[in-house]
Amino acid sequence: MAEKRDYYEVLGVPKDATADQLKSAYRKLAMKWHPDRNPGNPEAKEKFQEASEAYEVLSNPEKRQRYDQFGHQGMNFGPGGFDFGRDFSHSGDFQDIFESLFGGGDGGGSPFEGLFGGMFGGGRRSRPDPTGPQRGEDMTMTLDIDFDEAIFGSQRSMDLTLPDQCPECKGTGAAHGAKRVTCPTCHGHGQVVGGSGFFQIRQTCPKCGGVGTVVEKACSKCRGTGQVRVPRNISLRIPRGVVTGSRLRLSGKGAGGLRGGEPGDLYVLLNVRPSEIFEREDLDLYVDVPVSPLLAALGGEVDVPTPDGLAKVKISGGTPNGHRIRLRGKGVPDLRGGAAGDLYARIVFEVPTRLTGKQRGLMQDLAKLLDPSNFPEGQSFASKTKVFYQHKDKLQQKN
Ligand SMILES: [Zn+2]
Ligand SMILES: [Zn+2]
Repeated sequence: MAEKRDYYEVLGVPKDATADQLKSAYRKLAMKWHPDRNPGNPEAKEKFQEASEAYEVLSNPEKRQRYDQFGHQGMNFGPGGFDFGRDFSHSGDFQDIFESLFGGGDGGGSPFEGLFGGMFGGGRRSRPDPTGPQRGEDMTMTLDIDFDEAIFGSQRSMDLTLPDQCPECKGTGAAHGAKRVTCPTCHGHGQVVGGSGFFQIRQTCPKCGGVGTVVEKACSKCRGTGQVRVPRNISLRIPRGVVTGSRLRLSGKGAGGLRGGEPGDLYVLLNVRPSEIFEREDLDLYVDVPVSPLLAALGGEVDVPTPDGLAKVKISGGTPNGHRIRLRGKGVPDLRGGAAGDLYARIVFEVPTRLTGKQRGLMQDLAKLLDPSNFPEGQSFASKTKVFYQHKDKLQQKN
């Protein structure tokens, strides 16, 4: 093993460096050599550990005095002596250094705030207790429902598989008689750092789920998670008037609690399938009703679909294409008990096709009988067109 470098030399500070000088020197080195910013670079890791160790000693007046007196020799034994042979960058002390260095008391000007803020900010989080009761997770699922179910409400039964306590280990995750040990992935931190480049994201350790410890020998049934997925049948009442995005909460129907914990809740996010007939906007419904232009000319009765059934709606003679009829209260009932929405039916002319010889003959006779005065809009259009061309001719004569 190479000879240990002098701590002052490591940090690049004079022997009489102040606490501020030490802090600033360490901050620079840590920024440069942090392993998360130098993935796969063993030199960086070494440099970072070297600097961290130097700072750990020199920032502590007692340890610094001992180091000044005895050098590295003074650090390896004696009361309060400590062992740097372990993976320093992942020990619990490491986080303490960062928290005391760059935590809230640092005056806000720390260059680490952007970089490490996400990693170590916010102080210590309480870790889940791996042996105590744990509330089951809230689960969210989406459910497609039909348009009419959304309007009228319905009763549904769903088959799901949801996490629940492992019956084998009773939620401990441990094989029979096994103990808990420090998590090898996060080294007890409960968190790992992901992302790349300058910005790092702190994530819950996937191995231990943030606990910091894992069981020595995992339960074979749940692979140490303490949870298994079990099939469940859940009945659900969909109230009248829900929309896409409505969220229903089923209290206590989420993941099962562990070791005596309460079960979580199940949230059902509704997605309403579009109707082939109706368009919906809030509580109002829109429907296009195909109508023969002949019927519209003569006037008569039109069947308008509403959620409650077909409504016979009278239209007067000469009803134009696109005419809208409002049916009050025939829209969607209000979820909160207010007034129901309205239904708007739009008349959409359907020109007859596939004419028989007789139909064609009659229509030809009719066409001959009709004259421009039967079509006031067409007359008005024709006169506007005439004016347009008259104007155009005048302009061209001037040029
Ligand atoms: Zn872990
Ligand atoms: Zn188990």
